[in-house]
Amino acid sequence: MKKIGFIGLGIMGKPMALNLLKAGYELTVYDVLAERMDEALKAGARRGLSGKDVASRSEVVITMLPNSPHVREAVLGRDGVLDGAKPGTILVDMSSIAPLASREIAAQAQAKGVAMLDAPVSGGEPKAVAGTLAIMVGGPQETFDTVKDILAKMGSTVTRVGAIGSGNVTKLANQIIVALNIAAMSEAMVLATKAGVDPEKVFQAIRGGLAGSTVLDAKVPLALKGNFKPGFRIELHIKDIANALDTAHELGVPVPLSSVVMEIMQALKADGKATNDHGGIIQFYEQLAKVQVRA
Ligand code: NAD
Repeated sequence: MKKIGFIGLGIMGKPMALNLLKAGYELTVYDVLAERMDEALKAGARRGLSGKDVASRSEVVITMLPNSPHVREAVLGRDGVLDGAKPGTILVDMSSIAPLASREIAAQAQAKGVAMLDAPVSGGEPKAVAGTLAIMVGGPQETFDTVKDILAKMGSTVTRVGAIGSGNVTKLANQIIVALNIAAMSEAMVLATKAGVDPEKVFQAIRGGLAGSTVLDAKVPLALKGNFKPGFRIELHIKDIANALDTAHELGVPVPLSSVVMEIMQALKADGKATNDHGGIIQFYEQLAKVQVRA
């Protein structure tokens, strides 16, 4: 399969689309904000006029959109993907959305002969640019086998975790772990700073031990510079934790730490910081303790 459609060219979608172009695929792109397509068009992509138009020209359609309502609109809405897709087309939704929404959208796609995978990613913009995302996939094995090589152009690990919706369940697990790690790092670094110990030295002393983590390595250096430019916006992490809380409560699973980190992020949102990087969670603790963690 050579003809790919790509819908949603934001922070993540744009570099992912560029990597597919680099790999030699014929790409048709679409975004509701026309300027978001400029770079991909310059790199050789064709301009799509709608989800329908993209789907009518593609064998595989990839979506990379903010949340469940956007995917519903782009796939099921007027002039959406299902209006243009031929039976046999494969839809790969790489957005992070509610697992239940993935299952509902897949059922409607199936009714039109379109097989769907949910394939959210972890790694953020730098790994999207490098083509080294971690991709977690739900959906039929046969569909996965057909598009695995395409996904491998955007990620260094491509793992099928189960049936449709499983990719997004895995992503929710990922997002709980990342949010709680950032909160733990923030609590600890603010304490160390207020105690009069150089936060840079604390970081260097502990990063090789059991407290070391990818989150620590990625986020402490930015916190030390006071750099909260996204990256991954707090408002998107609020969306993911809201999906985690809904999914957990539907299943009867209490998630007490997730609800605390949700309220921390809500406080930051109320303080006008929703578009900060999620590393900006540290600002909540800095305000409580009246101290700033800076090198
Ligand atoms: P973004 O807001 O930068 O990009 C989303 C794009 O979708 C925008 O360009 C927007 O104009 C477009 N869009 C919205 N509705 C549309 C529609 N109906 N039709 C066509 N285009 C539409 O978001 P992002 O940071 O690229 O994130 C995309 C997804 O990836 C989210 O689900 C996010 O949670 C997930 N994600 C993001 C990161 C990150 O670090 N940014 C990391 C991993 C996963």
